[in-house]
Amino acid sequence: MAASISPLLFDAQHLWHPYSAIGAGHPVYQVVAARGVRLQLADGRELIDGISSWWCAIHGYNHPQLNQAINAQLAAMAHVMFGGLTHPPAVALAELLLKITPAKLQTVFFADSGSISVEVALKMALQYWQARGAGQKRRFVALRRGYHGDTFGAMSVSDPDTGLHTLFQQTLAQQLFIPAPTTPYGEPCADADIAPLRDLLAAQHQEIAAVILEPVVQGAGGMRFYAADYLRHARKLCDTYGVLLIFDEIATGFGRTGTLFAAEQAAVCPDMMTIGKALSGGYMTLAATLTTEEVSSTISRGTPGIFMHGPTFMANPLACAVALASCQLLLSSPWQARVAALSVWLERGLAPCRQLPQVAKVRVLGAIGVVELKAAQDLRILQPLLVDAGVWVRPFGKLVYLMPPYIMAEADCDLLTAAVCRVVAALPEAAT
Ligand SMILES: *Cc1c(COP(=O)(O)O)cnc(C)c1O
Repeated sequence: MAASISPLLFDAQHLWHPYSAIGAGHPVYQVVAARGVRLQLADGRELIDGISSWWCAIHGYNHPQLNQAINAQLAAMAHVMFGGLTHPPAVALAELLLKITPAKLQTVFFADSGSISVEVALKMALQYWQARGAGQKRRFVALRRGYHGDTFGAMSVSDPDTGLHTLFQQTLAQQLFIPAPTTPYGEPCADADIAPLRDLLAAQHQEIAAVILEPVVQGAGGMRFYAADYLRHARKLCDTYGVLLIFDEIATGFGRTGTLFAAEQAAVCPDMMTIGKALSGGYMTLAATLTTEEVSSTISRGTPGIFMHGPTFMANPLACAVALASCQLLLSSPWQARVAALSVWLERGLAPCRQLPQVAKVRVLGAIGVVELKAAQDLRILQPLLVDAGVWVRPFGKLVYLMPPYIMAEADCDLLTAAVCRVVAALPEAAT
């Protein structure tokens, strides 16, 4: 075979990356292996991973127990369709998920990705109201600054202005948006925060199917934290006005905010919950939509008597097997202590950023650390600076944030935060 061009050159000319362009000089780095909290680049450098491959790899990379689980499943069967067939990993995983999520959630729909689990939740809400003879209830209420995914339904409930999808506004279903809560985390919800939801539901509940929101932490829409108490009010209002409540826990699930699921912080049970990202410990693409007996039985009794969704790779056995192992590993680990320790280390390590003229705010919640800069940065400049500092962090806009694997040791967290402080300090000061 003729010598081919270098992998990086081929990549630059032929491969799309997330939110990237072809031939626009967005740097990409070749990873050849990963172990624990470190990525190994083709050029021999090692990077400390500060964001768990987009918040998924909570146990770090190449974990022996997860490797073992996926290998054992591979020896039995890599995949089989889920239409009319079932298998032990799907059943065992569903059983465990229903045990660790709020008690009223009783059924599981496995989806291929977080975005699809959001589509499924929206569809379930629409079918639920149709089955109840209230087909006019087909709009959704969402929070500004929210992010729920890249597919069309998910885009329609993500922030319409500051979000990633403004370009598609003319094509998207027109949903109803309310301001993002501003009451700080840990405080009782201010009435001014809950009033927009109350007013909207009072005026338009006859046409509203559900409210969808990310509980406690708004992730990719701006890394904002808000009062868990808001969720309690939202639950009450949804009950009062006959509207379903959907929690998108794709980012917050599996311990990231300090409780296994963020919903626990308000002792509130949604009618539907979407989970993904850390579900499989970062090994395979897998997500799920959980719902209550009330929603699932209403859909199943209604017309056409089935739920109208069924992906080809639904409940892939390899994904379910490794997700089961990941959940078991998490539950048997001292994850609360680890998240609490990361919280302390992130707070201490990022504190020096507060003094920097480039920085607007620093905030930490659970194992999430955010440095909000005064000015948005060009990733083409910032990314190489972070890599040269020995860390893998993927900022967006004004946000340089950390979501380390839970297994990260104190010394590595110190290296990570020190690198972030150093890089931020060297940025040009924001023009005023
Ligand atoms: C990442 C994310 C999604 C989308 O998940 P994908 O797997 O990227 O499709 C949806 N909602 C939230 C809150 C997320 O963080």
